[in-house]
Amino acid sequence: MMPPRSIVVLRLGHRAFRDKRITTHVCLTARAFGASGVYISGTRDPSLRSSVEKIVRVWGGGFWVEFVKSPLKAVHDWKASGGCVAHLTMYGLPLGETVLRIPKEKDLLVVVGGEKVPPEYFSLSDFNIAVGSQPHSEVAAIAVFLDRVTGGRWENLKFENAKLRIVASERGKVVEELDK
Ligand code: SAM
Repeated sequence: MMPPRSIVVLRLGHRAFRDKRITTHVCLTARAFGASGVYISGTRDPSLRSSVEKIVRVWGGGFWVEFVKSPLKAVHDWKASGGCVAHLTMYGLPLGETVLRIPKEKDLLVVVGGEKVPPEYFSLSDFNIAVGSQPHSEVAAIAVFLDRVTGGRWENLKFENAKLRIVASERGKVVEELDK
């Protein structure tokens, strides 16, 4: 399955103290599984951004984090520029059949919520997709969704300008320094 052209995640409603860890994990998971960047709405949190940027400096790639004042505007703008929007929610349609309908020729915005997602996102999104119909987490939803929508292509991603690279090994930790 060919992935969409470019994939960006929109994480709604970040709260600086309660959500720091989970939003960081949203970013790192999005990066590892093939998204180009994450828009974050809610509290502007420069320390979250710098901790993700620190990881990017060491492990490579061009992943970015951007805070947005109006996430609804971000969705409107995305659609106005020809992109497709998939909102991940346990109330949506089953992943397996719905992922096949996502157009490959368009850029894809993947919306994940926090506490409570306003109804506008359900109506504005081209697809409301359930990664199973049980409640779990935005991190799990992103990982499973990106795996499916990229057809597993994240496994072959190259992270340019990395300083460190893990050498797969059966036991122990083998890490190569690439910066010399
Ligand atoms: N009641 C929420 C819902 O609408 O899915 C669960 C809130 S959960 C703490 C935060 C986010 O995780 C949701 O907004 C959604 O993006 C994602 N999520 C959780 N479970 C999911 C599922 N089964 N399928 C898709 N996304 C899910």
